[in-house]
Amino acid sequence: MNFNITTPETTQELLAQISKHQENNFRFGAGYTDLLLELKKQPDEDLTVINLAQLNDEHFTSISELDDGIRVGTLVTANRITYNEVLEKRYPVLYEAASKLASRQIRQVATIGGNLCTASPAGDIACALVALEARCEMLKTDGTVIVVPIDDFFVGVKKNCLLKNEILRSIIIPSNSENSKLYSGFIKVGTRCSMEIAVVSLAYHIQSDENGKITKAGVAIGSVAPTIKFAKSASEYLIGRSYTSIGTSKAEEFATKVLEYTLPISDIRASAWYRKEALFNISKSIFESN
Ligand SMILES: Cc1cc2nc3c(=O)[nH]c(=O)nc-3n(C[C@H](O)[C@H](O)[C@H](O)COP(=O)(O)OP(=O)(O)OC[C@H]3O[C@@H](n4cnc5c(N)ncnc54)[C@H](O)[C@@H]3O)c2cc1C
Repeated sequence: MNFNITTPETTQELLAQISKHQENNFRFGAGYTDLLLELKKQPDEDLTVINLAQLNDEHFTSISELDDGIRVGTLVTANRITYNEVLEKRYPVLYEAASKLASRQIRQVATIGGNLCTASPAGDIACALVALEARCEMLKTDGTVIVVPIDDFFVGVKKNCLLKNEILRSIIIPSNSENSKLYSGFIKVGTRCSMEIAVVSLAYHIQSDENGKITKAGVAIGSVAPTIKFAKSASEYLIGRSYTSIGTSKAEEFATKVLEYTLPISDIRASAWYRKEALFNISKSIFESN
């Protein structure tokens, strides 16, 4: 594997490097857990890698409070998410997804931005962020910033909406409603417990008011369609209901709605039939304690 590497330390240097390489073949590298495997499979002799690992800009590197939510820089690693008490308390779905990604060693370097930009239908952190209805903040080489809903970020299998002169800078996760009670989690089905890419995954983040009525719900599914999907009708089905009084038949109606968003494939890891069955069962299982 042979490529040129350049390591900007400031955003100005980064944007200058992106502009300089506009006409050439270049890629960004963050934790390299996806990129190196890809380049090993498809070596590219004429490639420049713009290494983001030394970038000193808190929009890319920090976790910070905003008036309407939390900003997570794209260079934040999976391990940093799992060590952050605010994220764990407010967004358990994100904490759980980051905890279930690969192994501790991979999590130490794997970034949130890499997980999103790879745009795998099996991305764990990406799935949690879709359930949270996060927004993606992208920086252009002229310094302007564009914000897109995460649902619009994924455009196909391993394809995102970034143009060549754009880079993903931060993710903005909206605040939870005040005093809401949370039912939030990430369920990952694999053929073993760790170092396993999801065969099916389900992320949910459900908020209810002081009377127990669900006021906001986000449900996302992974590994069952070309991109991670926000299960809109299933999410809307929950609004106005009481979480704790959803029994077996309503849980099955909910799970049927989740399946509307699937277009699974059969591959070496699971058949399309298995993926749908597993998704149906884990979807209804979130109400099992009722
Ligand atoms: C052994 C192993 C196990 C794994 N298990 C899992 C798992 O269980 N769950 C899971 O979800 N993933 C898993 N992965 C995949 C991978 O670890 C994650 O997708 C990780 O989050 C990628 O982050 P990274 O920083 O390493 O990305 P990199 O490899 O550095 O980059 C990935 C892609 O994103 C682009 N990119 C990175 N940052 C930016 C940015 N800011 N703006 C624009 N483009 C950018 C790169 O150019 C590249 O195309 C596994 C990988 C390995 C090797």
